[in-house]
Order: sequence, then structure tokens, then C-alpha cells
Amino acid sequence: MATMDAPAPGPLPRARNRPLLNRRLAEFGTTIFAEMSALATATGSINLGQGFPDTDGPEEIREAAVRALRDGRGNQYPPGPGVPELRTAVAGHQSRFHGLTVDPDTEVLITAGATEAIAAALLALVEPGDEVIALEPYYDSYAACIAMAGGRRVPVTLHPRDGAYHLDLDELRDAVTDRTRLILLNTPHNPTGTVLTRQELAAVAELAVERDLLVVTDEVYEHLVFEGEHLPIAGFPGMRERTLTIGSAGKTFAFTGWKVGWATGTPELVAAVRSAKQFLTYVSAGPFQYAVAEALRLPTEYFDELRDELRAKRDLLSAGLADAGFTVYRPAGTYFVTTDIRPLGESDGFAFCRALPERCGVVAIPNAVFYDHREQGTPFVRFAFSKRKAVLDEAVTRLKRLTL
Ligand SMILES: *Cc1c(COP(=O)(O)O)cnc(C)c1O
Repeated sequence: MATMDAPAPGPLPRARNRPLLNRRLAEFGTTIFAEMSALATATGSINLGQGFPDTDGPEEIREAAVRALRDGRGNQYPPGPGVPELRTAVAGHQSRFHGLTVDPDTEVLITAGATEAIAAALLALVEPGDEVIALEPYYDSYAACIAMAGGRRVPVTLHPRDGAYHLDLDELRDAVTDRTRLILLNTPHNPTGTVLTRQELAAVAELAVERDLLVVTDEVYEHLVFEGEHLPIAGFPGMRERTLTIGSAGKTFAFTGWKVGWATGTPELVAAVRSAKQFLTYVSAGPFQYAVAEALRLPTEYFDELRDELRAKRDLLSAGLADAGFTVYRPAGTYFVTTDIRPLGESDGFAFCRALPERCGVVAIPNAVFYDHREQGTPFVRFAFSKRKAVLDEAVTRLKRLTL
């Protein structure tokens, strides 16, 4: 650290005629989440903007973390690929829930949340100028990480139709060029709640094989599927050798602050991603890794209950939003429900979300922030339902003011 030699605060001479934030990141200066969360605090609103649970995960898993801390497991740098107990548990989970066989020693990498796995994957696999296809609207870190890797993002837009969002396979096919390096997939999909079907995944897989593309697939909501089923694309013909699958303990166990995630794939893919990961965090979350290993072995009832509870919350908030006059796109999975505000006589999601705390004490996120083609997302607004029932009840009551 060179902090001792740091110049006194103030503009550096060389920085005078240049913005501090470099060109790659200029468009990602601040996130809407910061603005909306600040607005929630300032107005005492219910924050249905950011997608984190407002209750912590299982007591016994918290206790497992405490035990690990006390017993001195993970208090010092854990092994680069992650502690063996957790790598074994991740492999066991992939086999138990998805019938996928992965070698815990060579095909699993533990990361600082799914966020780091995504960043490391893109930094490792993308050459400057490579095109990366991502389903739009997309999770905000994708665009920033593609930019950090020097890649070009190529959005393929999911379209709202018949109460849900759909992937147009022809549009996906047309988006592939000779410069396409990988498809960044996300199912169950944030923010739309779409869960890709077996037919859709088979078509994506066929395309990836035909055009020799890698697939990086973000499956952090794998256990939060209310309709249909979650199918990892890694299980489709020809995909094992070209797919990096990303998971996380954050959403599945309601420990988003622990930042324990993982990537699974062939030894070659995992080694490549590890090369980038080792210079991002090197390692993280030592004691929590042991606790998550226990969490992944929880009985099936835990996962069923989690899903059933979230489904009830989805239904509660969706019904409340419909009563308040929104058009509701009922999600098949995830923490989020997308709505159309046009039936309320509104057209601009940004303006609507900025006014909503004053109007009725609720915070939501304008979907336009998840788009390159912002106009496609303008009239849509996302609400999170990963909150206690009493909080959702109160939010629904408050939203009724919109009908007055
Ligand atoms: C929450 C979320 C993540 C981040 O997961 P962490 O494990 O907290 O880093 C990644 N992808 C999607 C789609 C998410 O919603």
C-alpha cells in the first residue's frame, strides 16, 4: 500500500481535463438502487426496490457459521478454489437436484457471490472486441462486467406477451455473429421472472453447439421456481463442455450478505475463471463457506418450503398490484414481479418510481434501467416480494391509494 505517499486531497494535476471514471465504466457511475433506497429511507417507504429478503436464513446455518468462526475454520485464507467441504457440497447439490456430475476437485470454484463468478467468467473468457449476448432486460452487473472485460454487449430482448415475458429464438439466432464469444444466460430470469422452458433451452443449446459458443448461465434463483421446472442448460446435449454454471447461497438460503457463490464447469473452464478470480478477491467468506456446505445438504423440505412461501408472497403482491390497477406479469420464478403502469394512466417508469414514495410510501424500480433499448422498458416497473408477509400486506394497502 502506498497510502503513506498519497498526495494531499484535491484534484490531481493529470486528472484535470479528464473524468476520473474511465470510459469503460462511465455509463455505470451510479445505480438506481442507491437512489431509490435513499428515497425509501428519506420518506419512510416500504422498499420493494432491492431484492433481498428481510428475514435471515435458517438458524441452524447461522449457528454453523458461528461454530466455524469459534473452531477456527476459515478464519485464515481458505484454499483458492474454496474449502473442500463446500466444493463437495456443491457437487452433491448439482447431482441431487439436477442430475449433473461435477468433480469437486477440478470442476467447482467457490466465489465471492455469484457477482464475482460473473465478473471473473467474463474477464477470463472474453477478449476485447468479443460480442457477448445477454437477455434484456438484464441484471445490472452484466453490462458493467462485459464492459470491464472490453467486450461488446449484444442484447436479445425478452418480449411481454400474454402475461409473461418470452424469448424470441429467431432474434437470438440472428444476434449471433462470427464475433460472438458467449451467451450470458439467466434462468430463472431477473427482472422478468421468466423461467426458460425445456424447448427454449434445447434451442439455445443447439445454437451454442452449432456456432461453437460458450454459455455462462446465472442460475441463482434455481430453487425459486413456482411454475414449470428449472433445467440447467449444462445438462443438454453438447453443453457440458461449453457451459459455466453459476449459483449462489444468497437467494437460496436468504444470506445475501455472506456473498458465497460458485461456478461449475469443465476443469478447463473452471481453471480459466479461477485465473481471473484469484486477482479479484483471491478468496473470501472463509467461515461462511463451511456453513453453506451444511446449508446445501439441508433436507428437501427446506427447499420446498422456501419455494412455497415465496409463491404465496408472489400471489399476494401480484393480486394487490392488480387491484391497484397495474397490469401484472406473473413471474414463474425469482423474487420479482414486473408490472405495466399504463393502465394507471402513466407512461414513464422513472417518473412513476420517483413519485411513488410520496404518493403512497412504496419504492419500486423502473425496468428501463435493465435495458440498452430503454424505450422497450419505459412503462414497466419491478417490485420485489422477498419480504415478510406483514410488509407485503402493508404495501398492498398503501398501493390501493393509487386507485383513489
Ligand atoms: C442477486 C443476483 C446475483 C448476485 O448474487 P450474489 O451471490 O449476491 O453475488 C446474481 N445474479 C442475479 C440474477 C441476481 O438476482
